[in-house]
Amino acid sequence: MKAVVIGAGASGLMCAGGLAEAGHEVVVIEKNDRPGKKLFITGKGRCNLTNACDVRTFLDNVVTNRKFLTSAIYGFTPADCMEFFEKLGVRLKVERGDRVFPVSDKSGDIVKALEKYALSNGAEIRYCESAKDIKCDQGRVSAVATDKDVYPCDVVVIACGGVTYPVTGSTGDGYRLAKKLGHRIVAPSAALVPLLAKGVDGLQGLSLKNVSAEVVADEKSVASQFGEMLFTHNGVSGPIILTLSSLVGAYCDEKGAFVKTAFLKVDLKPALDRDTLDARILREINSTPKVSAKTLLYTLMPRALAPVVLAQCDIREDVKACEISKKQRESLVSAVKGLKFPLTGKDKIEFGIVTQGGVDVSQINPKDMQSRTVAGLYIVGETLDVDAFTGGFNLQIAFCTARAVVRALS
Ligand SMILES: Cc1cc2nc3c(=O)[nH]c(=O)nc-3n(C[C@H](O)[C@H](O)[C@H](O)COP(=O)(O)OP(=O)(O)OC[C@H]3O[C@@H](n4cnc5c(N)ncnc54)[C@H](O)[C@@H]3O)c2cc1C
Repeated sequence: MKAVVIGAGASGLMCAGGLAEAGHEVVVIEKNDRPGKKLFITGKGRCNLTNACDVRTFLDNVVTNRKFLTSAIYGFTPADCMEFFEKLGVRLKVERGDRVFPVSDKSGDIVKALEKYALSNGAEIRYCESAKDIKCDQGRVSAVATDKDVYPCDVVVIACGGVTYPVTGSTGDGYRLAKKLGHRIVAPSAALVPLLAKGVDGLQGLSLKNVSAEVVADEKSVASQFGEMLFTHNGVSGPIILTLSSLVGAYCDEKGAFVKTAFLKVDLKPALDRDTLDARILREINSTPKVSAKTLLYTLMPRALAPVVLAQCDIREDVKACEISKKQRESLVSAVKGLKFPLTGKDKIEFGIVTQGGVDVSQINPKDMQSRTVAGLYIVGETLDVDAFTGGFNLQIAFCTARAVVRALS
């Protein structure tokens, strides 16, 4: 069969190589002048290509449409993925949290391996060419029209990615192409993205380890995470914040702004209960009764946070430690264990590591990623309404959905 794959990213190259290996005539259309521009920047340039976990753990890390991915992930597991790349000659290593990277720490090695896999099996890649339209004949794909040519074909794979980091080429074309053919698109929004917060002036660059952060919206706890976070010029970021951002979609509008009153509650001392923390503060007061309240807090937290904490419990910065009343100490304990920052929304969609939303998966067959609406049309990777946490899970989604197409057409 003649197959046209739109997009030479993670899922497109995997699909093109596999289909060519299975004997199909494959053309890949890529709007950039080179393959895998997004893949190249993954994992801070090291490419966390998968996670060395079992299938169940993988599914636990999928945020949207976990069930839909079940068949694809059993068909191409993280272990299969590692074996695949090792066979292509890329040596891999497993780091903290079972994150898998190339031993070279170079994402370029993954891009090169995938490009070679596609080309050596006979796929052709047309760079600097953009797919504009998918033609159909009696409910079946018949051709792909680009800005330069028309490619008659029996199979079309949309592997255009999502809509975040648009400089990499993922600009939402996959949604437009699929929508034109009658697919519903779940409104795309950013996930794994910093959150915009108020009250962070003077905290930019401050990183907090071993804290617990909770998003509270409409007076309800939405989600909480323990680990590392950092303050930016306009809000908060870091591993636990990125994870939280993937879980707040239901409380945000299409532009990512919170529609309900929301705030981030940071427990600076999650390992201490209130009584233990109070006893610790009392000990500090007794040993340095003459220092200011602000100086007293330097023993408990990074200096930049002291004024923020004091402002939230109504204690003047210059009041002497020994003058802090029991009631004020109670409110100090509450502030240390629940420092509040009003949240206004998610950062801009282009800053998301992954897109939440995309082609509605109820119109896609989970076994082979074929459209239930148009025969011969397959949709893979981030263009689908699927997303996962950080840790190599999103690339594993790209790869396993691509392999589902390859298996079905082999
Ligand atoms: C900064 C950053 C770091 C990340 N790090 C990781 C990580 O370490 N591990 C992980 O698992 N995930 C990571 N991700 C997420 C991961 O990169 C994506 O989920 C994955 O690349 C999606 O693969 P894809 O094939 O669906 O889309 P993409 O890799 O985005 O590929 C889509 C391709 O389609 C092309 N295209 C689009 N429209 C057209 C058109 N009309 N015509 C022709 N070509 C077109 C694009 O140019 C692009 O090359 C990261 C993302 C970012 C932004």
